[in-house]
Amino acid sequence: MSENIIGYKINGEIVDTQSNKDGSGEAIEFDNSKEALDIIRHSTAHLMAQAIKELYPDAKFFVGPVVEEGFYYDFRTSQKIGEEDLKKIEKKMKELVKKKYEISKYEISKDEAIEKFADDDLKQAVLKNIPSDSVSIYKQGDFEDLCRGPHVPNTRLLHNFKLTRVAGAYLGGDENAEMLTRIYGIAFADKEALKAHIKMLEEAKKRDHRKVGSEMELFMFNDEAGAGLPFWMPKGARLRSKLENMLFKAHRKRGYEPVRGPEILKADMWRTSGHYACYGENMYLTEIDGQEYGIKPMNCIGHILIYKQSVKSYRDLPLKYFEYGVVHRHEKSGVLHGLLRVREFTQDDAHIFCTPQQIKSVVLEVVEFVDAVMKKFGFEYSMEISTKPDKAIGDDEVWEIATQALKDALDENNLSYGIDEGGGAFYGPKIDIKITDAIGRKWQCGTIQVDFNLPERFDVEYVAEDNQRKRPVMIHRAILGSFERFIAILTEHYAGEFPLFVAPTQVIFVPISESHQAYCKELSNELMDLDIDCEIYDKNDSLNKRIRLAEKQRVPYVVIVGDAEVANCSVAIRDRRKKEQYNLTKDEFMLQLKQQLQEGKI
Ligand SMILES: [Zn+2]
Ligand SMILES: [Zn+2]
Repeated sequence: MSENIIGYKINGEIVDTQSNKDGSGEAIEFDNSKEALDIIRHSTAHLMAQAIKELYPDAKFFVGPVVEEGFYYDFRTSQKIGEEDLKKIEKKMKELVKKKYEISKYEISKDEAIEKFADDDLKQAVLKNIPSDSVSIYKQGDFEDLCRGPHVPNTRLLHNFKLTRVAGAYLGGDENAEMLTRIYGIAFADKEALKAHIKMLEEAKKRDHRKVGSEMELFMFNDEAGAGLPFWMPKGARLRSKLENMLFKAHRKRGYEPVRGPEILKADMWRTSGHYACYGENMYLTEIDGQEYGIKPMNCIGHILIYKQSVKSYRDLPLKYFEYGVVHRHEKSGVLHGLLRVREFTQDDAHIFCTPQQIKSVVLEVVEFVDAVMKKFGFEYSMEISTKPDKAIGDDEVWEIATQALKDALDENNLSYGIDEGGGAFYGPKIDIKITDAIGRKWQCGTIQVDFNLPERFDVEYVAEDNQRKRPVMIHRAILGSFERFIAILTEHYAGEFPLFVAPTQVIFVPISESHQAYCKELSNELMDLDIDCEIYDKNDSLNKRIRLAEKQRVPYVVIVGDAEVANCSVAIRDRRKKEQYNLTKDEFMLQLKQQLQEGKI
């Protein structure tokens, strides 16, 4: 067996060298491939547990899985563990790496395991969830842990790690249960990859939209008003309305009709839609005149009722309604995160009613729309088709037809995509759009979702060519996902240095003295007529302070106006995006702005 092999892939399943001694299957080498990293990271979680056990002998461990950001382990100790303890734990882990412990595995029956871990209530909780009769134990040095693997064969392979943060985590994710300590970490096969990742994390910290958003006064939260409920401050509201206006035109060009439904609907509507049964725990309910109502978590029903207001013919299809739909969803307080996870947000939502034969072409048109929007922002993106989950409504056959239509649409146009088996919403398969930001992170944004179910439940029809009443298909789609989430991602992607077309303030005028204010006002009004947002910094602060303030706002153009500029009808520009300073005549400047805003229309 090669030194470099840490596992095998057999029929899509990953097993380690301890479990597969004869070496059958496809070898997984010790490198930074996804499969190898999963094994390395999970093994590092155990290494961390071993170190914690040595430092805090009363520690008891729950689970230590691999997650997108690396790995974590949930545990309990009598001592409180904070960020300041991570260094100490890392140091102990390094000692254990040097000991080059072999990581061995043996199997025992579940009953034996229950006895073995008799004094460990957390292990008992883990064991309760294991359906099989036998379980495996991994041993490194004198540390043993219950686990199904896979693990690397020796602790010496685990030196490239970093513990990143400490958090609290409810036992089994249950808000009423005990709070355990969770330590997150990251690990790689080599030092270079680890270094690059640490650099990315530092960069991410600098770009954190909560930090940049508060510096630029884009949005705020107010705990007294409620967690997860964003407030848009003037600059954020300007940025957002630029996005809204741009997308409004883009929708109209593609034949979408704007509509708007109410925020709350009778609970019976949500019963008909299936949301009450399948999504009820995430909905806010209220009562009016003794009747139960639900605040909408999705906009679909409003669009369906508008569609049904009059008889539709096949000639009306595909019919596309769109709405900047405000929705409310009860997210657990632990997962709320800036604008990325909130309880109220606005989707760039659309519903397309079409015939089954039109699905493919509709999906392709949406994909073209997505492409235009992503290019405008300079995002790379990938697509993933999610199939039927365990908890679903609708029969298998219908799911199959819908899933195939999504695949066909992408296949026929040579668009590559991944498959997320079982990752679909409860009412249909979907295409997820994941964008990659400037520092390589992936974000889930828009979705394109086929739905045979809601038209059925609401008895939606159209009159076909043969005069028969038929059922249209409904396609739910959002491109940004939500304005909140997308603006959070944009802020981090650009580190607040928004491109001209969405920058909250596009031009700031800084008059050198009072006598230059009138010229600034005149210029600013002319630019406002071109839909360019301007501010004039004419407060009593010193010139330098005003320039500094303008730069902190990351405004694309800071224009300094003094005697010479007034006399020549010109402007002295500090171009923040090009990092240059230059002079233009007023007309040249206006032309430059106009041209820049014309680029890459969507
Ligand atoms: Zn394990
Ligand atoms: Zn919908």
